[in-house]
Amino acid sequence: MKIALAGNPNSGKTTLYNALTGELAQVGNWAGVTVEKRVANLKDTYSHNNEDVQIVDLPGAYSISAYTNEEAITNEFVKNENPDVIINIIDSTNLSRSLFFTTQLLELNIPIVVALNKNDLLEKKEISINNVKLAESLGAKVVQISALEEKGLKALTKTAIKLVSEGAVQKPVSNDLLQEVSSKEQETELNKKRFEIISEIVKNCEVKQVLSKEKTTSDKIDEIVAHKVWGLPIFFVIMWGVYWFSQSGLGGFLSEYVNEELFGEIIPDMAEGFFESLNTNPFLQDLLIEGMIGGVGAILGFLPLIMVLFFCLSLLEDCGYMARVAVVMDRYFKKIGLSGKSIIPMVVGSGCAIPGIMATRTIENEHERRMASILTPFVPCGAKLPIIALFATVFFPNSSWVAPSIYIISIGVIVCVGLILKKIYGIENNNSLFIIELAEYKVPSIKNAVKNMLHKSKHFIVKAGTIILLCNTLVWLLQSYDFSFNVVDDADLSMLATIGGLFAPLFIPLGMAGWQLTASTVTGFIAKENVVASLAVMFATSEDFLHSVNSPLFGVFTPVSAFAFMLFNLFTPPCFAAIGAMNAEMESKRWLRIGLGFQFVTGYTLAMIVNQVGTLITTGKFADGFIIAIIILALEALVFVKLTRRSEKPEGTLPVAS
Ligand code: GDP
Repeated sequence: MKIALAGNPNSGKTTLYNALTGELAQVGNWAGVTVEKRVANLKDTYSHNNEDVQIVDLPGAYSISAYTNEEAITNEFVKNENPDVIINIIDSTNLSRSLFFTTQLLELNIPIVVALNKNDLLEKKEISINNVKLAESLGAKVVQISALEEKGLKALTKTAIKLVSEGAVQKPVSNDLLQEVSSKEQETELNKKRFEIISEIVKNCEVKQVLSKEKTTSDKIDEIVAHKVWGLPIFFVIMWGVYWFSQSGLGGFLSEYVNEELFGEIIPDMAEGFFESLNTNPFLQDLLIEGMIGGVGAILGFLPLIMVLFFCLSLLEDCGYMARVAVVMDRYFKKIGLSGKSIIPMVVGSGCAIPGIMATRTIENEHERRMASILTPFVPCGAKLPIIALFATVFFPNSSWVAPSIYIISIGVIVCVGLILKKIYGIENNNSLFIIELAEYKVPSIKNAVKNMLHKSKHFIVKAGTIILLCNTLVWLLQSYDFSFNVVDDADLSMLATIGGLFAPLFIPLGMAGWQLTASTVTGFIAKENVVASLAVMFATSEDFLHSVNSPLFGVFTPVSAFAFMLFNLFTPPCFAAIGAMNAEMESKRWLRIGLGFQFVTGYTLAMIVNQVGTLITTGKFADGFIIAIIILALEALVFVKLTRRSEKPEGTLPVAS
């Protein structure tokens, strides 16, 4: 049996889905978090002894219409997959708006149970709904629930399952609405009828206290937090606090222990003793300890730090703050032709760029969607955090600004690249409306935050144990053999040195000297965590691991070139998996190439400028490759001018995205 959940964004669909299935889908305060449909089995508690009851969670939709892609997914699914019954979840504090979608669902000839959610809030908001009348008017079963408090769910599932077993047939709310629509005018006319019917139903079934003019606490908080001028600085301060806490505070403290003690001494010593007792071949022993344990350890060492960060971000999201950030950003983003809608993919992208890029699907405007897919990977994702943490700890141990500054730089980069894209491709300012549900602030749920944190950390650990382990082994082998497969004493003669050396000249203006740095950057495209793991494999020794005060990294970087290296890895294209997501969302190879080109040039140029200017300021001397840097910048400026001119030509040479 297939039960589909359908409802407006923010109605509590994900919360209900998690409660019914025991899954850990992310609950968010905005549309766009649920992008793809999710399927899981109904928990035994709610299945009323029925076997194989599947719950399908659909993306939030306001109506069945192909206006936005998300809605199209819901539309397709409901029409094609034919669920046995639909649970239409409604935010009962917002009845009139929610019923629009309900009236459409009622026309599908699939049994509907209306779940009036957020029942717990009704009393507080002085709203009462007459269930019986509502059920009569709609001609559908109505059950009051609270998904959050898991109340009424047994009654809900029982009703749904019963409808299926009885072979119930669903009737539309009014026959007037059953018309073929072939034009926009007809659709508007029909929608007008819908609203009339709904307003009649609401009038009969809902008693609402007239809202007082008094401002709620949420309104008062928003006056400060979402303020025109203060909004942005407040966001920076909050992010700085979160970073400080996760990098230098609790997270930093725990990571230091794991890095220095656990993976620095305890585990390698134990492993060494163990292998020696077995008389393991020394080469194999090195591979296992330096290649595998060393590389994976360098990444897992950051796990506590990342867990603390995810926990804090989850709290911010759950209490409702992140939705306000979107409002604050909307103002600035409009200037570069993006609406606040694009901030959602970026906020999601701070966990991982892949779901972030997927969330661009909620943006209707094609140009805006493509731009958002190009810009979203500029937000540092979880996998990039070890890079930030490593360089911040080793080269700037006393500066708490380094990690948060990356976020400020990333916003700057997004705005600049956005403006450049707009200038070159003549992307019109789109006035697509940005509507976001600003739910009232609430005390965030620690349980949700912990669940979320564990969920994301699991992904991180699995990656460390699979793809990163594999890459480290490969890096270690490539730096131990030459092309004739002889073991080399000097890694400079190895295969990896030869391959890395090929690209190394390209990176001289960036202050990246040596094949090791190029090689680690290349492994970063497989997974960004690899940058740190590969550096550990190539540089760390049993005495001096990467994070120690005598880090071997001091041999290859100055603080300035370290900062540049970090920027290069953060702002060049994301990992292959995320590039795959960009490809899927952009639906155009040409735009994918444009996107990747922009990302590469951005990361490269930024790192180059930081290295050149930084070196000049700190040492008073020109850095290596100064002349080349000037030539590259001049070329870039030339290309920019040429591309802009082309797009300004009146005879329509404007590149049309295919
Ligand atoms: P979706 O967009 O429909 O998937 O909605 P979510 O499940 O993400 O929920 C949106 C917001 O409503 C979250 O902040 C939830 O915690 C909150 N929420 C969901 N169900 C309830 C409920 O029964 N009572 C209350 N008070 N809040 C709820």
